[in-house]
Amino acid sequence: MQYDRIKDILAKEPLNEKIEIRGWLRTRRDAKDFSFLELNDGSCLANLQIIASSDLGNYQDVIVKLHTGCSLKVTGELKESPAKGQKIELHAEEIDIYGWADPEIYPLQKKRHSYEFLRTIAHLRPRTNSLGAIARIRSSLSFSVHQFFHTHGFVYVHTPIITTIDCEGAGEMFKVVAPEDVLNDISGIQSNADFFGKPANLTVSGQLQAEVYAMALGKVYTFGPTFRAENSNTSRHLAEFWMVEPEMAFYDLADNMNLAESFLKYLVRHTLENDSEDLHLFANFVDKNLYRKLQNILEEPFSRITYTEAIKLLQKSPQKFDFPVEWGTDLQAEHERYLCEEIFDRPLFVTDYPRDIKPFYMRINDDNATVAAMDLLLPGIGEIIGGSQREERYDVLVSRMQEMHLNLDEYNWYLDLRRYGTVIHSGFGLGFERFLQFITAMKNIREVIPFPRTPGSALY
Ligand code: ATP
Ligand code: MN
Repeated sequence: MQYDRIKDILAKEPLNEKIEIRGWLRTRRDAKDFSFLELNDGSCLANLQIIASSDLGNYQDVIVKLHTGCSLKVTGELKESPAKGQKIELHAEEIDIYGWADPEIYPLQKKRHSYEFLRTIAHLRPRTNSLGAIARIRSSLSFSVHQFFHTHGFVYVHTPIITTIDCEGAGEMFKVVAPEDVLNDISGIQSNADFFGKPANLTVSGQLQAEVYAMALGKVYTFGPTFRAENSNTSRHLAEFWMVEPEMAFYDLADNMNLAESFLKYLVRHTLENDSEDLHLFANFVDKNLYRKLQNILEEPFSRITYTEAIKLLQKSPQKFDFPVEWGTDLQAEHERYLCEEIFDRPLFVTDYPRDIKPFYMRINDDNATVAAMDLLLPGIGEIIGGSQREERYDVLVSRMQEMHLNLDEYNWYLDLRRYGTVIHSGFGLGFERFLQFITAMKNIREVIPFPRTPGSALY
């Protein structure tokens, strides 16, 4: 069979050809001598209209009993549709049912359901228009991420999910433990009772391992799941989320920001070109300004200010904040959004944060008070990227690590990268779900990942 997806059929309109198609029924409407069936197979937002004539052998027994959610196979011929609303329709010659969906209990009825309700049926929600569209956009953008780096000479590195380093030096890592009986079986490990011979965690970032590969392959990236055991019940935090982390040898902070900017523009351009049907849904029903917001990313260069300038702007502003604005403290979401939405109204890089609020691996600036960090803030979202130029000077790195009471023995391998052939280098992490929120205008991050994990909730 030449066409087996509705998307291809709607794109190519192979009139008068014999078609066999499988999918799930969205709606049935009965007319005098026939029924209209709207079939969806998940390949695209649009349904294929099926004309099921009362001449069909199973019309009385099956067709007029079909309800939303039933799974079907339809064979027939594609014709031009005389009615408004669709250009083509399939005239069924045979309709077979795979599975019924009892309308008395099937949770997805024709009416609109709230996103909160849909979260409670995460196994059925991809069958709705909006969650289906998000899944397709997510897939398409994942592909664009790989395409961007592939065409820019980056090597894709799979960094580990189980790690024995603590990248941020923070206590927000999930522990990885093996069952007692397994540990008892492994000789030599009983003494410290750890499967790996030392404590292990789920990764919070692939950066440090990516640096290893950047120091050999020049330009690398990772794209995978990361985990944070933080008790943040916000609309922008998940306990499991996906991060895109490029790491580049010979890049300084400005190169790093330039790359981040062209990366984001590339992703937005690609989604506008490739996902227009799905995007349209969000522009229609979720945010009327969506296209303007996306165009805004493409047209203007992103703004750039230092943290110190940002603090001055916030202090001068008439806005009252819940958290005080003071040099030396981290910017809160309310500050980030005010800067980005009210003052600049476009993507904004904030650079050169105080060293005391940033991790050990960020490069100390000449002022000795700030580090070569950059956060990218997006209107409506806040922080979407965190990045920095890394400290490449052995002595400076060692004294910083000592200052922060890190165990140098644990990081000998990381220091080796500075002992042998050190070079300036930079990288960043893009929160993939936050970016998807920006693209789809979804208010809650739980809608843009198939199976959200948050404190108190992890279905399946
Ligand atoms: P935030 O201040 O918003 O918690 P962060 O400073 O902890 O972010 P980084 O450690 O710099 O974030 O991580 C890089 C990027 O990963 C962030 O810019 C953001 O887009 C994303 N990110 C961070 N934490 C989460 C989370 N819990 N859920 C989803 N995305 C996240
Ligand atoms: Mn955080």
